[in-house]
Amino acid sequence: MVEGVWFNMSNLSVLRVKSVQETLNLLAETDVTSKLLSGGVSITLQIRNGNLTCDRLIDISGVEELKSIQPVQINGKTFYQIGAGLSLSHVAKNSELKSKFPGLVSVIKTSSDPARLNAFTLGGLLTVKRNTGNLFPALAVLEAVIQVQNTDGEKLIPIMEWLTQVKKESSGLITAILLPDQSQTGWLVKEVKRRQMPGELIAGVVLCSVKDQNDVQSDLRLASVVDQFGVQRWTAIEEKINQAVAANDSFHSIMNDFDVQLQLRWGDGLDAQYRRQVLTALITRGLQEMIGSGEE
Ligand SMILES: Cc1cc2nc3c(=O)[nH]c(=O)nc-3n(C[C@H](O)[C@H](O)[C@H](O)COP(=O)(O)OP(=O)(O)OC[C@H]3O[C@@H](n4cnc5c(N)ncnc54)[C@H](O)[C@@H]3O)c2cc1C
Repeated sequence: MVEGVWFNMSNLSVLRVKSVQETLNLLAETDVTSKLLSGGVSITLQIRNGNLTCDRLIDISGVEELKSIQPVQINGKTFYQIGAGLSLSHVAKNSELKSKFPGLVSVIKTSSDPARLNAFTLGGLLTVKRNTGNLFPALAVLEAVIQVQNTDGEKLIPIMEWLTQVKKESSGLITAILLPDQSQTGWLVKEVKRRQMPGELIAGVVLCSVKDQNDVQSDLRLASVVDQFGVQRWTAIEEKINQAVAANDSFHSIMNDFDVQLQLRWGDGLDAQYRRQVLTALITRGLQEMIGSGEE
């Protein structure tokens, strides 16, 4: 957890918990309002700005159950369960994840500066939903699932549903991110960064695919983040590109359609035009590097 000066804390109690169950019991108490404290970056800012709206903080930074990385079986499928209490730098240093999900690890390493990587926890990031480099697109192409617990039990929420439909500070404890155990051998990341703001992108693209022993690619997946337009997984385009790859066709007409779709979605303001051009160029370059020139 972030150390340092605490502001305006006279009326705020901080309870340190040691287990998930203890956390859930405290969250279930309805006579007081509580917030979870994990890496503390966002909570510290809220305290400093005087807009922390709760009676007490539940400090989950000492809950070891939220800090493990392990394979688990859920409904007959294997997932890698990554505890929500882990910082980004812990995740990036884990040797099993480095070998199983090298693309994700490289995205994490470049998603922010070392101080933030040490401080931000997965639970905090998923709650605040502030885009941090290409982390969310990477989780989208890996089809990550968010594991949340509250007194009603456990919920498993696919990452895109989490990012687009779940309210920012909905009640419950995020316990882990689940990554389906799958082979993603091709992996490509393209991004245009803002100057002087570590981790902030104007636009970023993550592509991944499966390669067989003859280097033939299939199951290409594509997700992007564009600052004010958010995170998208482009499944309709993926399907067309996968068909084009299988038939050895060009993907350029697909990208032209994509450009038209973006124009309809984002409008034609100058900002939207610029971001559309950047995103289309990043995807086209990514596809060229990943699957060839795309020329007929
Ligand atoms: C360039 C850049 C700039 C940023 N600037 C800001 C900024 O100005 N302000 C800002 O707030 N963020 C900012 N962020 C976002 C930053 O990603 C988050 O503040 C940070 O990840 C919070 O993580 P934390 O572990 O420190 O969370 P904490 O501060 O501990 O918690 C953040 C929120 O998440 C909740 N939470 C934490 N863990 C869990 C869990 N396991 N289950 C359920 N809820 C949980 C807390 O209750 C709290 O509401 C920025 C990110 C980048 C890359």
